[in-house]
Amino acid sequence: KPRPEWIAVEEFLSRTVVHPDAAVQQAIRTAAEAGMPAIEVAPNAGKLLKLLVQMSGAHRILEIGTLAGYSTIWMGRGLPRSGTLVTCEYLPQHAEVAWANIDAAGLGERVEIRLGPALETLAALEEEEREPFDFIFIDADKQNNSRYLDWAVRLGRPGAVVVLDNTIWEGAVLDPGMDPVNAQGIIEALKLLGDHPRLDATVIQTVGSKGWDGFALARILPAQQ
Ligand code: SAM
Repeated sequence: KPRPEWIAVEEFLSRTVVHPDAAVQQAIRTAAEAGMPAIEVAPNAGKLLKLLVQMSGAHRILEIGTLAGYSTIWMGRGLPRSGTLVTCEYLPQHAEVAWANIDAAGLGERVEIRLGPALETLAALEEEEREPFDFIFIDADKQNNSRYLDWAVRLGRPGAVVVLDNTIWEGAVLDPGMDPVNAQGIIEALKLLGDHPRLDATVIQTVGSKGWDGFALARILPAQQ
């Protein structure tokens, strides 16, 4: 689906501006070797995540959807030395490949992979009464997007950044019949982003190696007294 010129431009931008390091490139390679799907974010999106982590001064990151740790490593690169990242993954094979990549990237001490369905992990994190997260990246099963946004508001501090990936889905947001499994969850989440009293959001439409898609960027607002 991605047009060849979109891919060529992205490759040009990647080597000219983005400069993915050896560790993130290893995440791509090992995922392919393990037969995992190439559904990680594009390099320019990974770099955007890292810059957003740095610009927002985030110390505690929550990621929903680990795969091989590609976006995890990008975000981890933006953390200060004392920073931590919790990432949720339910497939043991993905978690295993991701762990090797995260450790090889030098982030093993600061990253915790939580194995299991993300909704269960999120409930467990609330029970653990941790400090609230500063940055939340949602990139897992699209059917649960709205639930993940609700959890982001519960587990994030006021002012925290929320990034939700895959918001256009080749235009399926306007034509849910294109993908009955995922489109509804994406549309519901967009409506929630627009209506939620504790979220202030925008959505950016993108093209590139991942085709025609986009991401939402939101800020958690303080609860009304
Ligand atoms: N964020 C990753 C990156 O950019 O490198 C890509 C994540 S991939 C799109 C989605 C991942 O979420 C997959 O590894 C999948 O196994 C995992 N996943 C899907 N549904 C899940 C669930 N309910 N709980 C936990 N993980 C889930």
